[in-house]
Amino acid sequence: MSRQDKAVDLRSLTLEQTVTLVAEHGQPAYRGDQLWRWVHRNGVRSLDEASNLPGALRASLDEAGVICTALEVADVQRSVDGTRKMRLETRDGRSIETVLIPDGDKMTQCISSQVGCALDCQFCATAKLGLTRNLTAGEIVDQVYLAKALLAEEAPGQRITNLVYMGMGEPLHNFDHVMQSLVLLTHDVGANLSHRRITVSTVGLVPGIRKLGKQEVRPNLAVSLNASNDEVRDVVMPINKKYPIEVLLQTLREFPLEKRRRITFEYVLLAGVNDTLDDADRVAKLLRGFPCKLNVIPFNPHPLAPYKRPSRETIDAFQQRVRELGIATYLRTPRGDDIAAACGQLANREQQQELVQLR
Ligand code: SAH
Repeated sequence: MSRQDKAVDLRSLTLEQTVTLVAEHGQPAYRGDQLWRWVHRNGVRSLDEASNLPGALRASLDEAGVICTALEVADVQRSVDGTRKMRLETRDGRSIETVLIPDGDKMTQCISSQVGCALDCQFCATAKLGLTRNLTAGEIVDQVYLAKALLAEEAPGQRITNLVYMGMGEPLHNFDHVMQSLVLLTHDVGANLSHRRITVSTVGLVPGIRKLGKQEVRPNLAVSLNASNDEVRDVVMPINKKYPIEVLLQTLREFPLEKRRRITFEYVLLAGVNDTLDDADRVAKLLRGFPCKLNVIPFNPHPLAPYKRPSRETIDAFQQRVRELGIATYLRTPRGDDIAAACGQLANREQQQELVQLR
C-alpha cells in the first residue's frame, strides 16, 4: 500500500469526523468546523489555501499524511444541445467522467462512482473497461464541486438541481463510499442537495438494494431492467443469472418508499433484442401494481458493442404500448451524444480506441 492508500482523506470526512480529527491534533472544535467549510463550501484544492487555519495545524495534518483528494479537470467537452462532459483525473492518474445535462429549468449532473465497472452489461462502454477501483467519497463529491465551479464560470446563475449516480460504475458495488458521499452532498454547508433530488441507479444488486432500504436517509432508486424476460436479461446483463428478474422485483416490492416516491426502471432499447410489442406487454405485466415509472432509453451506439438503436417508429410503438398498459413511461432522448456523453458511452475516447484496436 502506498502512503496515499492509507492516508486520511479530508474531502471524504463528515463534519463530525473532521472535528474529531482536528481534536486529535490538539485543536478546538471550531477549527474542525472551519476546515470543513474550506473543503466543502470553498472547495479548496489543497490545505495551503485554507488561509485562516493555524500553520501549525496544517503542518501537523500534513505530517500525519492527511490529504485532501482533489480531481484535476483534464478536459471539458460541450455538446450542441448544452450538455457538458468533464473528464477528470484522479491523483493516481485515473480518468473518470461526469456529465452536466440542462433540461428546462433543471440541471442534472450525472456522476461516476467507480473507475470502470466490474459488471459486464453487454451494451455498456464502461463495462468493457473492467473495474480499476472504487472512487472515494471525496472523489465522488469533488465531481459536484468541480461542476459547480465550471457552471459558475460558464453559466452564472445556473445551479445543479438534480444528481444521478448513473455515470461510470455500479454505485451499489461501492456502497460505503456512495453512502458517505450522500451525507456530504446533502449537508447544507456543502452542495446542499435534498436526498429527494438524488438518484442512485443499479443493475439490480439484490443485497445492495436491501442494505440501501435499511438506511435512514435514502436517495431515489433507479433499476436497470433492460429486458422483459430472464432469457434476454441473462445475455445482456449477465448479473441476471445471479439475481433474476423475479428475485429482483420481489426485493423492490419490499423496498421502503417514502410517500409519493416511485422506483424508476430504466430500459435500454436494443434493436431486435428487446424492442418488440411482446416485450412491451411483458414489461407492463412485470411492473403492474408497482409505484414506478419507466424510462425508455434508446441505445446509444459506441464502437465497443454490436447493438443498434431501433428505428423511431419501433421506439415510439414500444413506449406507447407500455404507456397504454398503465405504466408511466418516459422517453429519454439522447443528450450529448455528439461528445459521447450519453448513457453508456462513458469510457474515455482514448481508452475506447485502445480497446477497439485490441479486438
Ligand atoms: N451501473 C448502474 C449505473 C450506470 S449505467 C446501472 O446499471 O444502472 C446508467 C444507465 O445507462 C443504465 O440504465 C444502463 O442500462 C444505461 N446504459 C448503459 N449503456 C447504454 C447505452 N449504450 N445506451 C443507452 N443506455 C445505456
